[in-house]
Amino acid sequence: MEVASCGQCGKCSASCPVSFAMDILPHQIVHLLQLEAQQAVVTSESLWLCIQCGSCSSTCPHGIDLAGMIQELRTVAQYRPEVKAGDQIRFHQSFLRSIEHNGRVYDTALLVRTLRAQGKKNWKLVWPAFARGKIRIWPSRAESRLEIKGYFKRAWLKLGGKHA
Ligand code: SF4
Ligand code: SF4
Repeated sequence: MEVASCGQCGKCSASCPVSFAMDILPHQIVHLLQLEAQQAVVTSESLWLCIQCGSCSSTCPHGIDLAGMIQELRTVAQYRPEVKAGDQIRFHQSFLRSIEHNGRVYDTALLVRTLRAQGKKNWKLVWPAFARGKIRIWPSRAESRLEIKGYFKRAWLKLGGKHA
């Protein structure tokens, strides 16, 4: 990771649309990574609050891809025993599975997997959305989905064969 060039200008935090809710701000994440304090980052709420808009990466004067780093750190965090497998991790895993199988997000599968993992408490939210035609029965699949599936396979192998 190219964090050494960060001068702590704070532009990434200023441009982040969800920084107001974060426990560690984007520029502080980079600083912690400079200090090799990865533990503090992988156990933070910020890691899962990031919406991957890419604003921090595009605004950084040193070209530091913080959005990409956060995505990598999420993958690492899933396998750390000190990170609680909460709703954010379940949602993240469902999101990745959806991309892996369809080449793009299939919102219905994402919703069902997330709700199933949460138990019964939120199922009642599905029916109004279904009645209004907001939930698709069949997925829309990308033409390049087999190629994308191959990327996932290689990534899982690199992680030691573990599948999230
Ligand atoms: S915008 Fe770039 S240089 Fe500035 S604090 Fe963020 S990561 Fe560091
Ligand atoms: S990618 Fe994440 S950390 Fe970066 S600006 Fe967007 S929400 Fe904030």
